[in-house]
Amino acid sequence: MAPTNASPPSDFIREIIDEHLRTNRFQGRVATRFPPEPNGYPHIGHAKSVCLNFGIAAQYGGTCNLRMDDTDPSGENQEYVDSIIQDVKWLGFDWKGRLYYASDYYEQLYQYAVQLIKKGKAYVCSLSADEIREYRGTLTKPGKESPYRIRSVEENLDLFQHMRAGEFEEGAHVLRAKIDMTSPNITMRDPVMYRIKKENHYRAGNKWCIYPMYDFAHCLSDSIERITHSICTLEFENNRPLYDWFLDELKVEYHPQQIEFARLNLSFTVLSKRKLIELVEKRVVSGWDDPRMPTLAGMRRRGITPEGIRSFCERIGVAKNDSVIDMALLENSIREDLNEKAPRVMAVLRPLRVVIDNYPEGQVEEFDCPYHPQNPEMGSRKVPFSRVLYIEKEDFIENPPKKFYRLSIGREVRLRYGYFIKCVSVVKDPNTGEVVEVHCIYDPETRSGFAPDGRKVDATIHWVSASHSLPAEVRLYDRLFRVANPMEGGHDFTEYLNSKSLEILRSCQVEPSLVSAAPGSRFQFERIGYFCVDPIDSSDKALVFNLTVTLRDSWAKISEKGKR
Ligand code: ATP
Ligand code: MG
Repeated sequence: MAPTNASPPSDFIREIIDEHLRTNRFQGRVATRFPPEPNGYPHIGHAKSVCLNFGIAAQYGGTCNLRMDDTDPSGENQEYVDSIIQDVKWLGFDWKGRLYYASDYYEQLYQYAVQLIKKGKAYVCSLSADEIREYRGTLTKPGKESPYRIRSVEENLDLFQHMRAGEFEEGAHVLRAKIDMTSPNITMRDPVMYRIKKENHYRAGNKWCIYPMYDFAHCLSDSIERITHSICTLEFENNRPLYDWFLDELKVEYHPQQIEFARLNLSFTVLSKRKLIELVEKRVVSGWDDPRMPTLAGMRRRGITPEGIRSFCERIGVAKNDSVIDMALLENSIREDLNEKAPRVMAVLRPLRVVIDNYPEGQVEEFDCPYHPQNPEMGSRKVPFSRVLYIEKEDFIENPPKKFYRLSIGREVRLRYGYFIKCVSVVKDPNTGEVVEVHCIYDPETRSGFAPDGRKVDATIHWVSASHSLPAEVRLYDRLFRVANPMEGGHDFTEYLNSKSLEILRSCQVEPSLVSAAPGSRFQFERIGYFCVDPIDSSDKALVFNLTVTLRDSWAKISEKGKR
């Protein structure tokens, strides 16, 4: 299990569990589960649920099952199962061999349904889907009983068996629980338990042509696995009486407690598999693992660490009311995490050539540069310095505005870990007038980073040696949406996509120490942000880096001004 904090978090769910332990409701056991449906890749919202369920199990010395909630053949597949397994593991949690599939319970669930029919608590209904909806009524209008509600037990058993045998078309019949069509809780108005679906299931194949509904399958799967606390999101609050109804009517041995908490909503993104599938299918993103996606696969590829995600989940806690968490909070958790662990290196994203006129041609010095200013244990590397360097284009302005303290003609700056240099002249492209080369002189006395005569500079800039640096591609990612809530107003959410969410820079230069950087490894590019070696597209011959997060939150101000 992932390490738990010195002082474990407390929240209303843990309070409920504490109470159950006090009253011995579950004989001292704590058994949770994370029950994803394998119909998409897990996202950061799922991470919240994973951290909660596995975190509680670890804290109380209990167990947490990983259960594929695979009761609907449409849209489920093995690729998604694999992604869930990989992502939960990556987040740092271990289900200790307790991996289960609801589809393995199909026969047992069928038998439970038969039991309910025999009790007169379930019936085969032959209304059409539209009719069922109409009969159900509304919040203000009570429902109407189906004319098929009075079918005899024998007829129901017979029909249900023929449903299973595949003798009816889809939609011809459903199995419904016989509860109360006038209940103020619409969920209790004879909910559907089974429907006919003549679809292959990725795991059960064509063995079944009737499939159980979530409400029926979920409580029983929990009970079969002897779960004590079935934690789910708030949308299921109204379903809790139904959860209990099935378990009570069937007099099962284990009756778990369902507890609802507020799902994670995050600004500037969407957390719904249906929406994410749309982005993938419309090729708005390159795939589930596109670094702009809020999926764990995307976040991993972007360079975000499992620790960063876990600390974010801990920070937001669990609550009973829905709210939207600011994306900036996630970005801050990531920054704090990477600040500690990412080695510092120098990379120039938009290179401008600098020639140091008074530095001997052919001479090379090696500067010993620490990987982390606050953590000497991370060691250091040698960075070569020579007559021709690259600096960032934006660190030079020919006619600087008032508060620009970096390089311009006549101005002196410090090179990170190196000398003071002073700009003496520029070379321009004769056609465009653009500055293409900057000429400087250096002061050999400032090797320590300070001038013996005590003169000061106002800026320190990063650089690489032109003949030693390595070419690299850098992918700059930004938020996927331009607005905080892309779902607002009922518009098509894809209208709010941020067209500048990806910028690819192909002529970057990075310091030579990165030559053997491992795929997925993370660095701070000094003065810019945190980056990781793209685990898929990067190679020794062609380095590719992904921006994980910038050093500072540049977004808050910009978005307020509505510039994007
Ligand atoms: P989606 O809306 O993305 O399709 P889902 O609820 O249908 O999500 P499941 O695979 O059923 O996806 O979810 C597995 C578990 O993760 C459930 O227990 C669910 O409550 C939880 N979960 C899903 N989304 C969130 C979220 N945004 N915040 C917290 N928990 C979530
Ligand atoms: Mg679901």
